[in-house]
Amino acid sequence: MKIPKIKRRYCPYCKKHTPHKVSQAKRRQGSSLTKGSKHRARKRGRARGLGSRGRYSKPAITKFKMSGKKATKKTDIRYECSECKKVHVQKHGVRTKRVSLNEAKG
Ligand SMILES: [Zn+2]
Repeated sequence: MKIPKIKRRYCPYCKKHTPHKVSQAKRRQGSSLTKGSKHRARKRGRARGLGSRGRYSKPAITKFKMSGKKATKKTDIRYECSECKKVHVQKHGVRTKRVSLNEAKG
């Protein structure tokens, strides 16, 4: 996927459209647990590790399995406002093999 380096976007802080600097960040794996269950699990001394974190009926994934690995990753694009220098994160990631930032046209 090709993305321009500078994009005109709406800035919720400046409340208008401003040029934004586009940058790529590494997407971290999120948890499948809800906030409440994480809180309760933490109190029980759990909520550690990857995946379901040993969600009660299944044992915890202690070693990362390579089976069924996806060839694409979701993008994690950050937009930095050129006026207030605040960074906004994209709402939804798009599955793509690689992301290349190219110079904006015009
Ligand atoms: Zn701004």
